[in-house]
Amino acid sequence: MTSIEQYPEFVNSHLYKDGTTWEERMTLAALGLCGEAGEFADSLKKYLFQHGDYNEKHVVEELGDILWYLQLACNLLRVSLDDVAEINMAKLKERYPIVMALGEKK
Ligand SMILES: [Mg+2]
Repeated sequence: MTSIEQYPEFVNSHLYKDGTTWEERMTLAALGLCGEAGEFADSLKKYLFQHGDYNEKHVVEELGDILWYLQLACNLLRVSLDDVAEINMAKLKERYPIVMALGEKK
């Protein structure tokens, strides 16, 4: 079993559950995604405007934090990350058919 296959249960097992409602957990997912996206962006801000050090390990850790909250939202909606990827690809192919066609042209 791959890490991504184990991840939904991993997230569920690392979530405090006592007394929290679906709405509270979804709020946690939404606020967590916003917060972690901010940390991801902050890494780039520091690189570009402060000390010029781009710590890729730290950036990947922030992406992992984003993944955790994304998986939490998926668990609450009873969809998989694979489902989300498929839906997103279908949406983008419909929305940007010319770009997709050009992208495949290489
Ligand atoms: Mg973080």
